[in-house]
Amino acid sequence: MSNLRRRKFDVLVIGAGGGGLRAALQLARVEANVAVVSKVFPTRSHTVAAQGGINAALANALPDNWHWHMYDTVKGSDYLGDQDAIEYMCRAASHLVIELEHAGVPFSRQDNGKIYQRPFGGQSQNFGGEQAARTCAAADRTGHAILHTLYQQNIQARTHFFDEYFAIDLISDDDGNVLGAVALEIATGEPIIIEAKCTLLATGGAAQIFRTNTNARINTGDGMGMVLRAGIPLQDMEFFQFHPTGIAGKGMLITEGARGEGGYLVNKEGERFMERYAPNARDLASRDVVSRAIATEVREGRGCGPQGDYVLLKVDHLGEGVVAKKLPGIRELARTFLHIDPVSTPIPVFPTAHYTMGGIPTNRDGQVVAPFSHGPEEAIPGLYAAGECACVSVHGANRLGGNSLLDIVVFGRAAANHIADHLRQSRYHLPLNEESVERALSRLARWNQRGDGEPVVQLRRELQQTMERYCGVFRTEEVLAKGVEQVLALEQRLQNAVLTDHSKVFNTARIEALELENMMEVAIATVCSALARKESRGAHSRIDFPGRDDEQWLKHTLFFKQERRLDYKPVRTKPLTVDTFPPKPRVY
Ligand SMILES: Cc1cc2nc3c(=O)[nH]c(=O)nc-3n(C[C@H](O)[C@H](O)[C@H](O)COP(=O)(O)OP(=O)(O)OC[C@H]3O[C@@H](n4cnc5c(N)ncnc54)[C@H](O)[C@@H]3O)c2cc1C
Repeated sequence: MSNLRRRKFDVLVIGAGGGGLRAALQLARVEANVAVVSKVFPTRSHTVAAQGGINAALANALPDNWHWHMYDTVKGSDYLGDQDAIEYMCRAASHLVIELEHAGVPFSRQDNGKIYQRPFGGQSQNFGGEQAARTCAAADRTGHAILHTLYQQNIQARTHFFDEYFAIDLISDDDGNVLGAVALEIATGEPIIIEAKCTLLATGGAAQIFRTNTNARINTGDGMGMVLRAGIPLQDMEFFQFHPTGIAGKGMLITEGARGEGGYLVNKEGERFMERYAPNARDLASRDVVSRAIATEVREGRGCGPQGDYVLLKVDHLGEGVVAKKLPGIRELARTFLHIDPVSTPIPVFPTAHYTMGGIPTNRDGQVVAPFSHGPEEAIPGLYAAGECACVSVHGANRLGGNSLLDIVVFGRAAANHIADHLRQSRYHLPLNEESVERALSRLARWNQRGDGEPVVQLRRELQQTMERYCGVFRTEEVLAKGVEQVLALEQRLQNAVLTDHSKVFNTARIEALELENMMEVAIATVCSALARKESRGAHSRIDFPGRDDEQWLKHTLFFKQERRLDYKPVRTKPLTVDTFPPKPRVY
């Protein structure tokens, strides 16, 4: 092992999406020595696919302020979001969006030259009044604009990139200080030890555990798997967002911006059915509400098409000019994947797995804070998390559209600021516990073995189907219990799985196997947490427990890998400076 490649940095950032790059930029600016590891070239991270925009109460289009944004976010979260973190995020939003503009993000413009803002789901003026327009957009390619800008700024700041390196596991010392990670250079298959005084996980979401999803193929929950294996729990994993408008049968996203620009949903009778489910907000109700409405329409026989298994999203009444200017990306998607032009033909849509509300538990400074094994809650020294892999928690039981791009820049920056303070006090690298390196390497060695067994790809497919079937939009005790049983059986089968039945093994196949191990960890956490929560809140919708139960369940779930133990912790209901928004019935 001594002949393994080793590199030392002040900070290791795992993940080059918007979260990782915003953090790295902040650190490079204070002249910390930063390494960013990414399993794909940085600008291929999933942030690049974000379409609709980023929320900030700039009040460019309609009256707005951060306090209304905070109210909407708390309500959208179905009161499970931590109100101190939500206040922090909403207050920081305007400043950080302007900062992105100054860094070079080419936002669309209003006629008066100000940043263009569109209405998005769950947004209101004056604490639940008229629709607000809070989502700052660069056409329908906002994530692309933000990610490329952040990457260019990092190149200028001389951040060190390890492109196409796969992080396997965290490494630590005997006292539990996290000191970097073991990674694999994908092109050569050579492992490398990257030591750091602080490590930030920014590995993104995990919607690949579902068959139909909007996520990139790389969104396999690797950081979440690493954390579980290190004995740290995951928080609120039962809350998975199903986006209402995925391309039916395929899953690619049609942005909420399509409805923000005036598009709407109809069933086979041509009825605008959202008027029945959300009389005020209609098509711009919160995502969980719209997804359930679509699933209900289909289940009750009002779906469209030969199988009656989708509804239609109409934007054809908006005119070619609006579609070409405001929604060029979704027009392209519809043409590519459905061979239709939404300017003249409505788009078949159905809910699709989209966003991981749960994740690695952190505080507002991005520190990973959790009861370690059976101990009391504490900050894990040297370990931070930000972005979709983290649960801070600003999205609670349901994220509002446009709040995730905001989350990644706000908490990427906050984590970097805390790390910068920490670096001032820690001048030297601590010595590694070599056993932690061995453990990470043994995961790799396991996939060097040959033999008979089921291929990894088969298990991946079955896992995705199982999660979709047993842990989808609507859930019951019986269905979830079966889901737990089936996922655990798949985990057993994974022990004996093989890469391929060919003699030559490619590194990419090894990466897929390592990813599947992470997906398996995340799927188990998700379905076990979902079985345990006996209420309906936000995206977690139990047919057998249809109501929200604040008395018993206004609390965060913690899932530990060891013994598959569940624990709970209180929601932080106290904001920083304003009054608490107490739970109310959630109507749109
Ligand atoms: C199609 C789509 C549209 C969206 N639209 C919007 C929107 O309009 N507005 C909004 O607010 N949100 C939107 N979201 C959500 C938002 O884009 C994401 O939540 C956010 O971009 C996640 O950023 P991130 O930095 O946390 O992770 P990502 O951008 O997913 O990046 C993860 C990074 O981690 C790296 N990585 C992962 N595992 C490893 C490993 N083992 N080793 C090395 N590197 C690793 C990857 O290479 C990548 O660089 C959308 C999401 C999707 C899928």
